[in-house]
Amino acid sequence: MTGKYIGAHVSAAGGVENAPENAYRIGASAFALFTKNQRQWQANPLSEESISAFKKNCEKFGYKPGQILPHDSYLINLGHPEKDALKKSRDAFLDEMKRCEQLGLDRLNFHPGSHLNKTSEEACLATIAESINLALEQTRGVSAVIENTAGQGTNLGFSFFQIKKIIEQVQDKSRVGVCIDTAHAYSAGYDIKTRAGFEKVFQEFEEVVGFEFLKGMHLNDSKKEFASRVDRHESLGKGTLGLEVFECIVTDSRFNGIPLILETPDESLWAEEINLLVNMQK
Ligand SMILES: [Zn+2]
Ligand SMILES: [Zn+2]
Repeated sequence: MTGKYIGAHVSAAGGVENAPENAYRIGASAFALFTKNQRQWQANPLSEESISAFKKNCEKFGYKPGQILPHDSYLINLGHPEKDALKKSRDAFLDEMKRCEQLGLDRLNFHPGSHLNKTSEEACLATIAESINLALEQTRGVSAVIENTAGQGTNLGFSFFQIKKIIEQVQDKSRVGVCIDTAHAYSAGYDIKTRAGFEKVFQEFEEVVGFEFLKGMHLNDSKKEFASRVDRHESLGKGTLGLEVFECIVTDSRFNGIPLILETPDESLWAEEINLLVNMQK
């Protein structure tokens, strides 16, 4: 597995310290996790025991920060058009960044935000960038990693241009990154199904955003058709996207050294899917 870190978004039930072993058991060389319940605003602080056990287990099972891609809560909207709700999201995001910092992790993956039909796209993107600036000012060592979205509802970040607009307004460019989700890209209208399409889309990514910002990938097939703007993941090879794009990714050195994470719905298949991706490299 030369240079590729391949894994899945594993369970952290019972404590973040359980995630490394859950990843190890499915043969993963990378993993994603939630550092708190992703459907609740409030969470207890991480205990000292939990933090040290997490670090110990990462070492024991062979995971360095560059192989780990934590994901923030789905409730957070860093582009919220209303003041109080925006503050709630910013506070929650800062808490998530601090949790990553405590765990010795170097990146946090999040969905940029939604305009809720209450503000312009441009204003929302500026709010998101300001939210990132505020979080970066108050933390150290953790990069904010913007995930592309499917563009469902009023979610922004479905085009490379929008992601570029956010990055442009982030002060510390060394601590902002991007994660491309294959299912989201396909649903958003990036035709990566074939090798020719893959080459064209990632050429555009290089020109608009730049591979130097790529800090992770989500490897998912899609349940929905091309350009549907609907976010529904499917197991690899069982959806509308198909397997070719995954072979393109795992054999392309531009995707070396970053976590490549499955978020496919059937976790009983993860070990098999990882194996499939590893074997595509041979
Ligand atoms: Zn996500
Ligand atoms: Zn994703």
